[in-house]
Amino acid sequence: ETAGSLSLLFTDKTGTLTTGKPEVTDILPASVSEKELLRLAAALEKGSEHPFAKAILAKAKNLNGYETSEFETIPGRGVSAVVNGIRCYGGNEKLMTEKGIRVPHYEELASKGRTPLYFGSEDGLYLGAIAAADVLKQDSVEAVAAMQKLHLDVVMLTGDNKEVAQAIASQAGITHVISDVLPGDKAGAVKKLQSEGKHVLMVGDGINDAPALVTADVGMAIGAGTDVAIESADVVL
Ligand code: ADP
Ligand code: MG
Repeated sequence: ETAGSLSLLFTDKTGTLTTGKPEVTDILPASVSEKELLRLAAALEKGSEHPFAKAILAKAKNLNGYETSEFETIPGRGVSAVVNGIRCYGGNEKLMTEKGIRVPHYEELASKGRTPLYFGSEDGLYLGAIAAADVLKQDSVEAVAAMQKLHLDVVMLTGDNKEVAQAIASQAGITHVISDVLPGDKAGAVKKLQSEGKHVLMVGDGINDAPALVTADVGMAIGAGTDVAIESADVVL
């Protein structure tokens, strides 16, 4: 009954519109060799559950040998750990800026839907970037068109950067994009539109989608998603 009155659909990107299984497309070393960058990145990412971490580990298959400790996830930004005694960081531009690491802005990569993941270490040293790209699920275009036909305003809500988000959105037939959203802010975006009188449907699969799935008038989780998304939703697809 509630679903019959919906006016706006928020959709997550990674793992919802896309397969959620990104692959490494480019390796862009700065102050170390390509192999060394990949080895460091793998050491840093081995504690992460993020799809980007998995892409890097798959690419780095046989490159290991570094000791990692004090691993931590930095929500909406990336990861940090001590690798061979040096504090290292991996993540988006926002994280690098916060850590005083200057990085190039790979606009052209991002506009092709490839997400640049930056790596650096303490003392502001920039090591290089690794880009990963994800592809749309086979039926995403059709699903988005069907929702639009039901007069739902379809809006992408993602933690990824603006250029990547827009590239994937245009492939999916979505014109409205809210990008660079921190995990805690997805629910805030839902609340804001509800306060403007919208009846909101949220679709997502990730840990960072769970609060928004609870807040929305109707929350739908992707069945192959995380347990917390499934627990938080009204409907499991
Ligand atoms: P999303 O899954 O929608 O991209 P997240 O909040 O999980 O949203 O991540 C936001 C951004 O933070 C990612 O697009 C990526 O740039 C960066 N990030 C997150 N986790 C990692 C990680 N393990 N390694 C590198 N970068 C990461
Ligand atoms: Mg997701």
